[in-house]
Amino acid sequence: MVFPFQSVQDFQIKIDDEHELFRKAVREVIEAKVLPKWQEIEKTNEIPQEIFEEFARQGFFGVGIPEEYGGQGGGQLLQAILTEEVARAVPSLAVAIGVNHLFGIPILKFGTEEQKKKYIVPIAEGRAFGAHANTEPGAGSDVAGIQTKAKKENDHYIITGRKIFISGAEKADFFVVSARTSPPKPDKRWWGISVFVIEKDTPGLKIGQRFNVIGMRGEQPYEVILDEVKVPAENLVGPENEGFKVIVTTYDYTRIGIAAQAVGIAQATFEAAVNYALQREAFGKRLIEFEMIIQKLADMYMKLEAARLLTYWAATLADEGRREFVIASSLAKAFATESAEWIARQAIQIHGGIGVDEETGVARYLRDAVITTIYEGTNEIQRLTIVRQLVRQLFGLKI
Ligand SMILES: Cc1cc2nc3c(=O)[nH]c(=O)nc-3n(C[C@H](O)[C@H](O)[C@H](O)COP(=O)(O)OP(=O)(O)OC[C@H]3O[C@@H](n4cnc5c(N)ncnc54)[C@H](O)[C@@H]3O)c2cc1C
Repeated sequence: MVFPFQSVQDFQIKIDDEHELFRKAVREVIEAKVLPKWQEIEKTNEIPQEIFEEFARQGFFGVGIPEEYGGQGGGQLLQAILTEEVARAVPSLAVAIGVNHLFGIPILKFGTEEQKKKYIVPIAEGRAFGAHANTEPGAGSDVAGIQTKAKKENDHYIITGRKIFISGAEKADFFVVSARTSPPKPDKRWWGISVFVIEKDTPGLKIGQRFNVIGMRGEQPYEVILDEVKVPAENLVGPENEGFKVIVTTYDYTRIGIAAQAVGIAQATFEAAVNYALQREAFGKRLIEFEMIIQKLADMYMKLEAARLLTYWAATLADEGRREFVIASSLAKAFATESAEWIARQAIQIHGGIGVDEETGVARYLRDAVITTIYEGTNEIQRLTIVRQLVRQLFGLKI
């Protein structure tokens, strides 16, 4: 046993020629169509519509979604490679792809066949967009603490509440929304939550304020107000009162995508730092010849590759249906996002004054990296998950 795994074979990454061909093809598209637009996206805080259209043409929205539901097939690993390549150029665009999975995974894992056909197919084909509305003013990490209520009346539910920080809300055609359908049980706070799909034009659903967060320009989150929204009972995703499981299982998968965003950010800033250190001279030498710069670059590279390995490993375990992927995805998310933040910071330092000039394009990655440490489970929550899963798997204990 290789604590807490069973064997050294558990540490494999199952990557093949198809993955590399796909990565190259994605990079070509991103460098031609996305990278030239980064300044426009930073300045306008909008992603141009033609980029979404190009992604739909390329089938990027369907990566990781089974072909029977309009997708391109492939699993978490292929999705991670796509996310990494997109984030290397414009991280907020990787969020736009990730949000569709935040919407899609609850339905793919817990939804009915009808829900999959109706909601997943248009998303996979890039004809529609989804959003995931769980966070509220009083509850983010504490999913069981949500206050939004859903009351059953005959063949529908009436949902009232307020959600905040909802990515992609202004563009979304469909939302997955969590709401309390019953009070919690005394020994089970998580019980009594349910998950629903709500279509954007349903009366009572309103998009509220746009938040102005420090990074991910082009993909700012919104408030979503639910005022007595009438939702058909067939839009319940998974069993009534068991929605907590739907939400947290979704994050088990999607946080691999956040780790991949971070790897893309780390890759971009590392490349920028190496290129600059090779070309910039000070005191008659190139920066890369100074020992302190060498040490920084070596440490940046160590963290980058370790982050990538953890991310691909978590994705491989998830694709193999291994329960242990939950620990691996938390390890990858926390490590990769903190590494990206640190690597981006070092890249700025290596650039000196122009590192903090927005026109250079390095500083934006630091702002984006900070956000990756917060959403889809803060890194404190990832640490809780890691240790809770460890003791559960090894000793059958709940802490
Ligand atoms: C840009 C952006 C986009 C987002 N997109 C979405 C979205 O699309 N959909 C959605 O539903 N949400 C979204 N969120 C919300 C995000 O998931 C939450 O902000 C996050 O989960 C943290 O919740 P919170 O903000 O309520 O912080 P809190 O839960 O109040 O946490 C505050 C601090 O306390 C710490 N903390 C909390 N509990 C514990 C504990 N048990 N042990 C140790 N420390 C703890 C946290 O780690 C954090 O440092 C987004 C957020 C941002 C910034």
